Amino acid sequence: MQMKYVTTICPYCGTGCALNLVVRDGKTVGVAPSHRSPVCSGKLCSRGLHAADVLGEARIEEPFIKGEHSDWETVMDKAAELKKYAAGEIIIITSPRITNETQYLVWKFAQSLGAAIGIINGGSGAPTVKLDELKDADVILTLGNVMQALPLTGNRIIQAKENGARLLYIGPQSYTAVQADTVEITDEYKELRPGFSALLKNAVRPAVVYMANDSAAAKLAEGLGIRAAVLYDKNNGRGASLMGIGPVDLPESVKAAFIIAETPLTEQDIYADLLQKLDSLELTIVATSAETSLLGIADIVLPVAALHESEGTVTNWEGRIQMLRRAANTPEGVKSLQEVLAELAGKMGLGIPSGTPEEIYAALASEISAFGNITYEQIAKPEGVFVQEA
Ligand code: SF4
Repeated sequence: MQMKYVTTICPYCGTGCALNLVVRDGKTVGVAPSHRSPVCSGKLCSRGLHAADVLGEARIEEPFIKGEHSDWETVMDKAAELKKYAAGEIIIITSPRITNETQYLVWKFAQSLGAAIGIINGGSGAPTVKLDELKDADVILTLGNVMQALPLTGNRIIQAKENGARLLYIGPQSYTAVQADTVEITDEYKELRPGFSALLKNAVRPAVVYMANDSAAAKLAEGLGIRAAVLYDKNNGRGASLMGIGPVDLPESVKAAFIIAETPLTEQDIYADLLQKLDSLELTIVATSAETSLLGIADIVLPVAALHESEGTVTNWEGRIQMLRRAANTPEGVKSLQEVLAELAGKMGLGIPSGTPEEIYAALASEISAFGNITYEQIAKPEGVFVQEA
């Protein structure tokens, strides 16, 4: 029996807590907190603490065509039929839970196809306050249920409250509302009530916190002109945003889709609203590590490595790039997403970068200015490195 601890990043929310995955004989069997990361300082929320229970769950380990088991050669030939479609007829729906390097390859794949690319509930926006600065704010306005979505970011807000900060809340009934001192329950964000405005105006270090995929909250927050924490609820949503990948839009012209399914799965089926439309397409290819509602509508299913079987970097909502380390072995018969993209690009006569995660990172950094001048080696430090904001 072989046991080891692998320090990596939680696969769930955009806080980007570091954790130690306990690995026995190539399989994750437990989670221990990491005390070396300033993001979480040895703490994890219950989702992070129980990550090992779900990481290997409901794995897809064989390719399928129309619900029937198949082999890699047949499915890849069939998937290469994407090349029959014109640029405007293809959509790539990517996941905010893959590494920066894999996202870069997906983005290059879409670019070389001329296809549109997007993320379900994708967001945009750069924060002007860091995680640790939140606890020193004296008035914090929270818009929407930010504390349940990103629990350890929520911890910093609670710390600020314990330090004497006033916590204001606008949004639907939620956990964040319960924690706030001053609350306005509403389904829409309108102008600030005079009481809220006065508190923010008289504050020395005010801050507003909202979700990157909540455009109404963003509009209200931007109008305030104060420091803002723009939260991404998926572990590499910010990385995707830095590559210019925004919310998915499925126009009528689309006939074929290549979807990188979002795993590990969450309680809410993020694809529910799109299933009918995706089902009506001529060709739907789904690359996934685990069972998803997309399996019911997929023409082709490609079994790919899960996040804890991958190596690379991820960017938390603050813009902190951190190292995600490979903890578990990939099951036999499963390929990495990088291998799938390279093979598919080869069959379709497209050129996308290749190499080790470090080499792909170097290509990414040379093209995406936020990552420029930051080396892979620097990212390996426990505290990671912040992207260069424009
Ligand atoms: S706060 Fe987010 S990143 Fe941290 S352990 Fe919980 S789910 Fe994971």
